[in-house]
This record gives sequence, C-alpha cells and structure tokens, in this order.
Amino acid sequence: MHRTHTCGELRTEHIGQSVVLSGWVKTIRKFGSITFIDLRDRYGITQLYFNDALNVLLESNPLGREFVIEAKGKVVERSNKNNQIPTGDIEIEVLEYQIFNASAVPPFTIEDDTDGGDELRMKYRYLDLRRDVVRKNLELRYAVSRATRNFLDAAKFMEVETPFLIKSTPEGARDFVVPSRMHQGQFYALPQSPQLFKQLLMVAGYDRYFQIVKCFRDEDLRADRQPEFTQIDCEMSFVNQEDVLETFEAMAKYIFKDVKNIDMPDAFPRMTWEEAMRDYGNDKPDIRFDMKIKNLNALAKGQQFPVFDDAELVIGIAAPGCSEYTRKQLDELTEWVKRPQIGMKGLVYIKVNTDGTYKSSVDKFFDAEKLKEIANTCGAQAGDLILIVAGNEALTRKAISELRLEMGNRLGLRDNSVFKPLWVIDFPLFEYDDENARWIACHHPFTSPIPAHIEWMNDTSKYKDIRANAYDLVLNGTEVGGGSIRIFQKSLQEKMFAALGMSKEESNLQFGFLLSAFEYGTPPHGGIALGFDRLCALLAGTEAIRDFIAFPKNNAGRDMMLDAPSHIDEKQMKELGLKSVQ
Ligand code: ASP
Repeated sequence: MHRTHTCGELRTEHIGQSVVLSGWVKTIRKFGSITFIDLRDRYGITQLYFNDALNVLLESNPLGREFVIEAKGKVVERSNKNNQIPTGDIEIEVLEYQIFNASAVPPFTIEDDTDGGDELRMKYRYLDLRRDVVRKNLELRYAVSRATRNFLDAAKFMEVETPFLIKSTPEGARDFVVPSRMHQGQFYALPQSPQLFKQLLMVAGYDRYFQIVKCFRDEDLRADRQPEFTQIDCEMSFVNQEDVLETFEAMAKYIFKDVKNIDMPDAFPRMTWEEAMRDYGNDKPDIRFDMKIKNLNALAKGQQFPVFDDAELVIGIAAPGCSEYTRKQLDELTEWVKRPQIGMKGLVYIKVNTDGTYKSSVDKFFDAEKLKEIANTCGAQAGDLILIVAGNEALTRKAISELRLEMGNRLGLRDNSVFKPLWVIDFPLFEYDDENARWIACHHPFTSPIPAHIEWMNDTSKYKDIRANAYDLVLNGTEVGGGSIRIFQKSLQEKMFAALGMSKEESNLQFGFLLSAFEYGTPPHGGIALGFDRLCALLAGTEAIRDFIAFPKNNAGRDMMLDAPSHIDEKQMKELGLKSVQ
C-alpha cells in the first residue's frame, strides 16, 4: 500500500507515528525556506510540512496543484492549529516523497466555490468530482441507496435486474432506440421504466420486487431533467392502494431518518387530485405554506368589469403581510404574470389595509362591500394583498399556481430544510388529447380504475370522470414518486387498450406477451417508482438533480466530457444497415 492512513484520518493521538499518505496536492504555501502543502483525498485534507532540507529537494523536483504524490513522514503537533478541518491539530513532517504523476494546470479551481462554469466543469467532470461539494452529493446518493436497500431488504423485497434492450412501445414518452446489427432494420428500445417486467415478475410469483435502475426517456429537456435517470422501482402482489402507500411512506420516513436524521410527519396527508388542482392549481402542491387559491367567479363577475365578465375563471390568492407593496412592486408583479411563460394579460390587486380600508386596482368597479366579500373568500387578514388573475380556465389555473409559488419564494415560505410530504390520489384515468382526437392514459395503460369506476370503462361518456387507482408522492412541490394498482385481468386490460384507440391486432403486436401472461394466474398487484436522483437533490435541499449524478448530461442532453451523441463511421453504419439522411 502506498499509504498507512487516509488524508482525513490522523489526529493528535497519532503524534509521533511514522506514516505514509498519498493524495493530490491541493495547495502549496511557501514561507521562506519552508513549504506547507495541503494533501487531499476522498477522506479529507492533511497538511504536509517540508522543512529546509526537503525544500532543496522540492526546488529540483517541484510539485504543482493536483500532482499525485506519496509522502512519508512523522505526525507532529501543529503550532498553528486549524479548527476548520478534522485533521487540523496535526501535520506531517515530511522526510521523503515521490511524485506518482504530475498534473496539468486544472481548467478551474478545485474548491467548493469554484471559478469554473457549468459546461467546463462537466467537460472535466473527473476534476469536478474532486470538489468537496460534489463528492458530498455523491456520498449522500450512496447513503440514500444504502438506506433504500436496507429498508426494502428487511421488508422482504428482492432486487431483480431487468433488461435494457427491449421493445419500443407507442405509449408514454419517446423511446431511445438501438439498431440491431443481427436483425437489420430492426431496433431495440431502452426502457422508459421496467414497468412491464415488474408486472411479469408478479405473474411469476416474486411478490415483492425492487430495483434501483436506470430509465431512459427521449424528452425535450428542462433544467431538472436528464435523458437517463434512476428510479427506485418497486412492485408488490396481493395489495391494495392502502398497503402500497403505507409501505412507501414507511420507506420515505426511514430514508430521511437514516440519511439526514429528519423525522417526517407520522402520517403523510392525502389529497385528491381534484382538491390539489382546486386549492393549489397543480397536482404537486407545495404545502409548506398555505396561500390557497380561491375561485372568485361568483363574486367577481357581473360588476361591469369586462376582464372578469369575459373570463372563464377568476381566481385569487391572499399574500400574507403584503398590503404595503409599492406601486413599483405591483407593476413588477404584473410584468411577472405577463411574461410569456405565465401568459396572463394582467394582474388585479386588492390591498387589505391594516386600518380596515381596501385599495384595489378595480376600485372603479368594486365597492368596499364587494372587496370585503372577496377578501373574506380569499381568507385575507388585515395587512394582506390579494392577487387576482382571470382568463381561460387551464391557463389561469396554471398562472395562479406559479404566482403562488413565486410569492412563496418572495416571502421566504419555501424553506428547503422543511419537508412536507403528501400523497396525491384519485387522478383521472384518462385525459383527452385534442390534437390527435383520442384518449390517453394519464399515468400509463396498466393502471386500473378505482374499483367503483371499473364499470364506467364501458361508457365513453364517463371516461373523463373515471378516477385511477393511482397515487403520487409529493414533497415540497416536487413529484418524487408515482405508481398505481394495476389492471390484472386480461379482459380489463384489453378494454383499456381499446379505450386508448388500439385495435386488437395492435395491442397484440405491442403487448401480446402481457395479455398472454395474464392468462396464467396473475395476482392483484401494484407498485410505485421514486425518482432517485430527485429524492437525493431534495434531501440536500436543492432541485438540481444533475449535481447528484456522477456523469450527467447538460441541458441539451449532451455528455460534454465524451462529446456524445456523436456520429459513427460509415463502416459501423453499414454493418447496422443504416443510412444517414443528414
Ligand atoms: N413505471 C411507472 C413510472 O415510471 C411507475 C409505476 O407505475 O410504478 O412512472
């Protein structure tokens, strides 16, 4: 071994011992004829002290930042102690050293607060990974995976690997495909999730399955998405919704306690999809703060104010303690809702002044009595500011939901060290795709309706009202997981495919294996998948999932280090039977 200890290990009790350390040169500080070096490895930093004699050697055999060296020496007490690091009471008086490898000057400083931009750090990710902050993220990720495995193992779940080269299916997001050389003109797809395999494992009798597994989705990327990401994928047999929620609520609690010593609430609140949409304007409500959305249609219409009278929906929130907002702040908020991402034409405000009076941007149309009624409906207290938007239903709901989050940010109500989980249940089973004039599955086509709505599968006019036996785990306004109780009877699954506009031939072609499996004794089953990268980010109090992935892609889905995707040569294309049209 080129070391007796790591760079994070030595303390005062080691004083006097001869040791060997190996690591990377983090900093070099010269003071006349002596030199101090901070030597870094995964475990920490230890100060090396080069005295006069060695300094001569250093001049003929100089060290630089990020050189990898071995240093032999004696542990001595430091005269100038550093209480910022665990090894700060000691240093190594170096007697001998060797350079394993020199280093080019790194393109950015390997410090927590680096001068390297995102793209540069991704290009040199192996250097970025040397930074403490990034290493801590990966350590957290490992702790989450260990806790997950411990919990699931104790609960009798068994990890089973499922294939990556599978069949492309039309449902869900776009597939990444892989051309087959042996079957030219044919393609595998990379799995968007192991959904059908885990269901087939239930058919096979492996009644508690899990896998921490890569999933691949060829979607247009948003800041918090990666084309390949990791799920904690689980499935259970002989369960109903309650069993699944209880099991995974316990798992979430276990992970938070084990990894972060955080106690989650005893029972996670549950909210129907309808309540979530009504009160928060979206299906992943951030319940760290209240500020619920109120429908003002009945009160706001009929006052000869065309913006409200012509609107499908008039909707408002009461921002606590904001009645003193200045003209400038209100103008700025108005501009905020008018941005194309939000898409509102304007913003109406009502100030509920502390002296009991009201001041609004619609005083011309609304008298004090009416304003008071609106304030009461919004649950506004003296000192609050009511913000109202109006327009087309879907757009307005989305806008107010964004505005609510924005106000939550501005008021410091979205504290990342506070964790407020909840289950959202009773999602719609179908949504109508206007563009293609057909029904699509909100979750996926293997999700069953809630038992009371199974009958409605025979009546297209009821489709919009059918609720799915599906659930999402939401944490601080982020969906961390989702799942459902599955269809497990062949006839219902066939009905589902038909409802989605698939002919018998098509469903047999795409999902024949599943339909056939359902003929051989299928237990009732259900499961869930949690976004592993996202869970890690949330535990660390951030939203950037790529900080928790060792080798992530950039926002355009490129691996900056490998420079992938890339062209392949003609010979390879030919072997695969492919021709590029580019
Ligand atoms: N396979 C689903 C997904 O990836 C999760 C599930 O239904 O278990 O969203």
